[in-house]
Amino acid sequence: MENIDPFENVLKQLEKVNKVLKLDEGIYEALKKPKRFLEVNIPVTMDNGNVKVFTGYRCQYNDARGPTKGGIRYHWNVSPAEVRALAAWMTWKCSVVDIPYGGGKGGIICNPKEMSDREIERLSRGYIAAIYKFIGPELDIPAPDVYTTPKIMAWMMDEFSKIRQHYTPGVITGKPLSVGGSLGRGDATAKGAWYTIREYIKYLKWDIKKTTSVVQGYGNAGSYIAQFLYDQGSKVIAVSDSQGGIYNEAGLDPYKVLEHKEKTGSVVNFSGAKNITNEELLYLKCDILCPSALENQITAKNADKIQAKMVAELANGPVTPEADEILIKKGIYQIPDFLCNAGGVTVSYFEWVQNLMNYYWSSDEVYEKLDKKMTKAFWDVIGAKEKYDIGMRTASYVVAIERVVDAMKARGFSY
Ligand code: GLU
Repeated sequence: MENIDPFENVLKQLEKVNKVLKLDEGIYEALKKPKRFLEVNIPVTMDNGNVKVFTGYRCQYNDARGPTKGGIRYHWNVSPAEVRALAAWMTWKCSVVDIPYGGGKGGIICNPKEMSDREIERLSRGYIAAIYKFIGPELDIPAPDVYTTPKIMAWMMDEFSKIRQHYTPGVITGKPLSVGGSLGRGDATAKGAWYTIREYIKYLKWDIKKTTSVVQGYGNAGSYIAQFLYDQGSKVIAVSDSQGGIYNEAGLDPYKVLEHKEKTGSVVNFSGAKNITNEELLYLKCDILCPSALENQITAKNADKIQAKMVAELANGPVTPEADEILIKKGIYQIPDFLCNAGGVTVSYFEWVQNLMNYYWSSDEVYEKLDKKMTKAFWDVIGAKEKYDIGMRTASYVVAIERVVDAMKARGFSY
């Protein structure tokens, strides 16, 4: 991964959208900065008895449209700039699908792969104890992100409930079903992405059964999108995870690949497939490429080598602004990240609504509502794309930023 400051990407994208929207100067300035940024240091007693101090962040980027919303990432590369960028993207994401939230994000610098469950539990509870005054169902609602799980959400919800002395499931989403989770949350990001791919395919008059696809990342987003594309008849020719990729021209069975990953810890060395690098995977000739891992994967250095006809971004920030220009020039169809992967936070919203009502929905109800939200968002973006004759990413920004700015103005933002 190239060392690119993701917040610089946020600013470049804002600059581009400002050329279309010509925002008031004060509003533009406000959009470039987070409302609140917290840094916390959490001492944790490790299993060997030593105390280790972990640094964590929570950014509440913009709350004009409602309480801030966004996941918490556990990763060794977490940085203030990354958290700030991800929080900004959450603001646009919640807006483009029109759910009543602002955007936020959290992260802790740690390597959960090298920690025991008990250590992760102590760290997660410590993080909530450090930020509890600033979060809550009406204030800021965290959720899972890279390397955080429903189990971690349950510990965090429990810690918050203990401190507040009453059961508060609505403080966090992505929880297990037993403690107020929602049906359909597990595969929501990929389901939502599939709905946008489906609509784009309709728009382009393609036949999904005649497509080939490639998926980078085999976590919560990647493994499910590979399965959904396969279920719909697309030939999934390559997938990867952090250890590397696998390729079979004749197509892979993503369900079997998942079984293999669960057994061996990785997709690599899958029988009947050739091992390839993550780079090689990105450059494969295919119809639909789904970057579903981390940011800055397609950059100015390699965008020229992309041979996919469509890039559907399930990860946050996988394409840099420079690469975006190159992909547009190459005529590659794009579904930008905060539109493509908004299904996760949309079902988080449904989870929160169910928590507040204490009334729970069937999975059919959840998927139906998710489909409506994603389909509407997709066509809103197509509307802006056609109205202003701009690319899909800038069009997504136009839809999202217009709504955020309307809310800022309506609330009496003085500038
Ligand atoms: N971490 C997910 C995202 O980036 C989900 C956030 C949420 O559900 O609040 O969209």
